[in-house]
Amino acid sequence: MRRIEDYEPIVGRFRIHELYKLGEKLNGKIIQNINSTAVGGGVAEILDRMVPLLRQLGINARWDVIKGGEEFFKITKRFHNALHGVKLDFHEKEFEYFLEVNRENAEMMDLVGDVIFIHDPQPIALVEKKKEIGRNWLWRCHIDFSTPIPQIWEFLKGYIEEYDAAIFSAPAFSRELKIPQVLISPSIDPLSDKNKELSTEEVRSVFESFKIDLSRPVVTQISRFDYLKDPLGVIDAYKMAKKYVDCQLVLAGGPATDDPEGEIVFNAIKERAASDPDIFILLLPPASDIEINALQRGSTIVLQKSLKEGFGLTVAEALWKERPVIASAVGGIPLQITHKYSGILTRTVEGTSFWIKQLIQEPDFARMLGKNGKERIKNNFLITRHLTDYMLTFLHLMEGGAEDIVYL
Ligand code: UDP
Repeated sequence: MRRIEDYEPIVGRFRIHELYKLGEKLNGKIIQNINSTAVGGGVAEILDRMVPLLRQLGINARWDVIKGGEEFFKITKRFHNALHGVKLDFHEKEFEYFLEVNRENAEMMDLVGDVIFIHDPQPIALVEKKKEIGRNWLWRCHIDFSTPIPQIWEFLKGYIEEYDAAIFSAPAFSRELKIPQVLISPSIDPLSDKNKELSTEEVRSVFESFKIDLSRPVVTQISRFDYLKDPLGVIDAYKMAKKYVDCQLVLAGGPATDDPEGEIVFNAIKERAASDPDIFILLLPPASDIEINALQRGSTIVLQKSLKEGFGLTVAEALWKERPVIASAVGGIPLQITHKYSGILTRTVEGTSFWIKQLIQEPDFARMLGKNGKERIKNNFLITRHLTDYMLTFLHLMEGGAEDIVYL
C-alpha cells in the first residue's frame, strides 16, 4: 500500500505537509463519491487512486457505483455523445427511464456523505434526494461540455443547479449556471502501476508478449474503443505516414461497463486495419495497468487523436513517461501540451500523419518534447495537487457554504 510520504521525493515536503494539514481539518468527514462504473475510463482510474489516499489523510472517503442495465447505459452513452455535440434527438421516454433508474438507485443507496460527490451525468439526478436528506452536494463534470445539444443541456442543467457547486476540468467547459463553479483539472498518480518506473526488461517482455517489434518505431494510442477517440482516423494517419517512414501501429483499449458502443467500434477498427501485419489491435482486460505502462514507455510516439475529450488522462500518462505525444487540440489536451514545446497539437488526419513522420525523423526534437512534457505534468497534473484542490473545495462547502467557493 502506497503511503502519502512516498510522494515526497517527487513533489517535495511542502506539498505533503499541506495535505496532512488539510486532512486534519476534514478528519472523519464522509466524502461519498458516486459514479457509474468501477472499471474503464478516466473517472474510475482517478477514484481508484484518490479514495485510498483520502482515507490515509483521515477522511472517511467512500466510493459507490450506481446500478443500471443495458438500456440505461445506452441512454447515458447517447447523453454523453450529445453533450459532446453529436446531433441526436431524444424521446421523452428516455428521460423518464433515466430518472426512474436514478430514483431506484437513490432508494437503494445509503446516501450518508457529509459531501455527496457525484461524478458525471449518469447519477446526476440522485440530487433529487437533497430536499429530503440535506447534506452538501457536489457535481463533478469530467467531460467536454463546450458544445452540448440544447435539448440535453437543458435537461441536465435543471439537475446541475440543484447542487451546491460544480467542478469542471477546463475553463472551456464551464457554462452559465446559477451555482458556483470550480476549476480543477484531473491528475495521474506517478506511483501507480500504470505510471511507476519500469525496467527495460519489463517493457521488453510486454512488447514481446504482444509480438510487437521494439527495434522498429512504434506509434500507439490507448483508449476505450469509442468513435470520439477517432481510432479510424488514427489508422488513416498511420497509413499516410507509412508511405514515408517505417512504423508499427498499436491501438490498445478495453471495455468500460458504462460504454455499450465498444464492440461496434472494435469491429470497425478491425475492418479498417484489414490484414496489415504492422497494426496491433489489443483488447486489454481491466487491470492491464503494467501492460499499458509498458506500451506507453516503449512507444516511439503516443497519439491521442480524440475528436472530443474531457481531460485526456492518457496524454498526461504518456507525457509523464517523457514520450513525445501528438494529440488533438480538444478538451483538456491544450492544458497539457503547448504546441512544439511539450508535445504536438493537431486537428486533422493529415496533420497527425505529418507529425508522425517528422518525429520519427527528428528524434532529438521528439526527446525534447517528451522532457518538457514530463515537467508540465509534474508541476500541474499529479494526484497530490488534485487532492489539495478537492480537500479545499470540501472544506469550503462544509465550513463556509458554497457561496465562498471561488467562481471561475
Ligand atoms: N485505460 C485503461 N484501459 C484501456 C483504455 C484506457 O486502463 O483499455 C485508461 C487509460 O490509461 C486512462 C483512462 O483509462 O487512464 C482513460 O482516461 P481518458 O481521460 O484518457 O479518457 P476517458 O476514457 O475517460 O474518456
